[in-house]
Amino acid sequence: MTTKPLIAALGLIATLGAAQAAAAQSSTFLPPSDTALDAVKDLVGRLDLEQYKATIKGLTQFGDRRQGTDRNRQAVDWIEAQLKSYGCQDIGRIKYEYQPAPPRTTTAAGAPAGGRPGGAGGGANRGQAQGGGRIRGNRTRTGVNTDSLAQPDTALRRLNSQPTTPGPREEVYCTKVGATHPQEMYIIGGHMDGHGWGEAANDDGSGTALVMELARVFSMPDVQTDRSIRFALWNNEETGLNGARAYVEQRAKLQGIESPKGSKKYPEPKWLGMIQHDMMMFDHGMPRADGTMSPEQRPEADVNIEFQSNSKMAEGSQKLAWIFLGANEKYATDYPAQVGPHMTNTDSAPFQDLIPSLSLRENERGREIGAGWDPQWHQPTDRYSTYSDKDFRLGLNAAQTTLGALGHLVGATVKK
Ligand SMILES: [Zn+2]
Repeated sequence: MTTKPLIAALGLIATLGAAQAAAAQSSTFLPPSDTALDAVKDLVGRLDLEQYKATIKGLTQFGDRRQGTDRNRQAVDWIEAQLKSYGCQDIGRIKYEYQPAPPRTTTAAGAPAGGRPGGAGGGANRGQAQGGGRIRGNRTRTGVNTDSLAQPDTALRRLNSQPTTPGPREEVYCTKVGATHPQEMYIIGGHMDGHGWGEAANDDGSGTALVMELARVFSMPDVQTDRSIRFALWNNEETGLNGARAYVEQRAKLQGIESPKGSKKYPEPKWLGMIQHDMMMFDHGMPRADGTMSPEQRPEADVNIEFQSNSKMAEGSQKLAWIFLGANEKYATDYPAQVGPHMTNTDSAPFQDLIPSLSLRENERGREIGAGWDPQWHQPTDRYSTYSDKDFRLGLNAAQTTLGALGHLVGATVKK
């Protein structure tokens, strides 16, 4: 995986400008810069582990934030209040109706087989991962906990007790408005809903907090960008990406329209790319043969940048992925990144045939998380107190990666 992607990346960067094209010959896929004058480095430096943890902690006060409950609605209100306090502009809500499909009698489509620690062998179709690729090695059972009594903490059990009801839903976004190209934007997303009777701290408090932290940094009064950025906190991801789908259905046709005419205001700037963040913290490796996990973040933990090779926008998405890899090499303080072609099961899917789309995660969704690499996934144990600083730091490194890439893509500068 050296020549082809490099050539592809060169192609994209050439379209971004001659100076950057020359720079692409360096291994970072990003223009070289005088470190002292690198505004993006300045912005990345404004991310902070304790601040990131505090934002995750804030989200966990609403329990698992399951869609269709008061605790979910309160979390949307809280996120909006935070975005406002950061000074993030053009705050809005997407409103849609969620009516679940009638319950199925068979296993949910695509549910990983699981349940066979130590056994990756079997028939021809065994080990096929969702989104593509193959599951290798040990795997453990995965699924969604639906049993309240599996949550031993009675206070948290009470907090999560209101059942979901069908009906109207809302999700919130805000915008960094570009100074010279306000009519174009990147969309940065995470999903704020969760389930499983825990606190949805990792899935997806970690991605939601990442998006909020980027909104905070880009909204600082001395930060200017050429292009716009929309920070979207999707709802109903866990029920089938319904919040992100509603956004695409309602807003795709509004792209690039100036309204009111002559105002230089663009309620829906043209979409340049969509980057989703979903489960950012836990990379303890493959389950052991006996089904147990390493209690520590593995030293070789990484950020997994995925695009979907079977999507219509695979070419552009792949090029965007290499920009993110380069940003990781340049700006992330602790953990490296890897690029993979099997993005699946997250809110970037509704965008993947329309615009370049990526997801960032702690592990590959199909072959790793799908094989049980995250034992907290949709479980009562997905709580703030489960994670150590090594886990939180992986999420912070993903934030550094996205902020670094985005800073270049939108032309961020800092007013002196
Ligand atoms: Zn998730």
